[in-house]
Amino acid sequence: MKVLIADDTASDRIVLKSYLKKMNHQVVETANGEEALEEILNNYCSYDLMIIDVLMPVMDGHEFARRIRAHEGEEWLPLIFLSGKTGDEDLAAGIDAGGDDYLFKPITRTILKAKINAMGRISALRNRLAESNRKLGRLVNQDGLTGAANRRYLDQYLEIEFLRARRNMQPLSLCMIDVDRFKKYNDSFGHQQGDECLKNTVSTISNCIHRPADLVARYGGEEFCCVLPETPLNAAFSLAEKIRSAVEESFRDSIIDGKSAAATVSIGIASMVPDMNSSVKELIQKSDRQLYRAKEMGRNRVQMDGSEELVERPESAAPDRSALIETKDSEVL
Ligand code: GH3
Ligand code: MG
Ligand code: MG
Repeated sequence: MKVLIADDTASDRIVLKSYLKKMNHQVVETANGEEALEEILNNYCSYDLMIIDVLMPVMDGHEFARRIRAHEGEEWLPLIFLSGKTGDEDLAAGIDAGGDDYLFKPITRTILKAKINAMGRISALRNRLAESNRKLGRLVNQDGLTGAANRRYLDQYLEIEFLRARRNMQPLSLCMIDVDRFKKYNDSFGHQQGDECLKNTVSTISNCIHRPADLVARYGGEEFCCVLPETPLNAAFSLAEKIRSAVEESFRDSIIDGKSAAATVSIGIASMVPDMNSSVKELIQKSDRQLYRAKEMGRNRVQMDGSEELVERPESAAPDRSALIETKDSEVL
């Protein structure tokens, strides 16, 4: 364990340190509460235990305890007071201030070792609980099959990013991704292979996404979403095109039971710099409409909001996607 000790009496520090070293603990020593507080606030995560004297100049042990407990929030580092004040009231006051145990000076090695063992057990149990809580927290927000964020989390995230984009006057883009003719895929290869296809699709989408704020989520069934904060329409289009071709590529040579199991996705994109008149619902509806258009126009393609007038010109019946985005660039940026 790494142990922080604070004691203004050098001889007491030396004895305590030698005991701890003999127990193979790593020790950092400080001479008062203020020094201890500075050290622990700078290196909190590296410590396992604090052993703190009560009566010290500059900042006493109780004040140190109150400050560290106020700072910790959900975190907790075990704190043992070690003091020459041996009354029942002294012990009670130490525990009240935020200590977990209270030992009287002079301490014997046997008692110190036993108390540290007990504190170590509680600390390990608490760490395991905290880790389980972190895992549970992640699972609550995750789709069980694909590992993408689930619909619950998507709704929350979209709402938060929408408000942020409105406040900062930044574009927020949404890609709606749907696996093409997935019913047929299930019918041909079975639902288990269908599930594998969905998992593979999500991992391919995730590999195309690199910014920490970008989110891949399962909207429902074989539909997925990418939320792209601070991303204008043209950049979202490039990313969507990358996703579309990566999915096509990843399934290109897929063969199940001697039959080609190629799968593709269609993607609809919408983007907005939200204002007081816009809503998340509107963003979803717009990207959904583009997804519908991508399906209508033959699937395995990306369609973006605002491209209707371009793609509906007779000569653009089968528009070149790169030409489309070049035309839009100047308008969007
Ligand atoms: P389109 O190209 O128009 O999107 O056609 P589609 O067949 O993909 O669309 P449709 O909505 O008709 O079918 C979606 C299918 O996705 C039907 C449903 O059974 C299947 N599906 C939804 N969720 C899952 C899942 O978790 N696992 C599997 N294996 N199939 C799923
Ligand atoms: Mg589909
Ligand atoms: Mg669908």
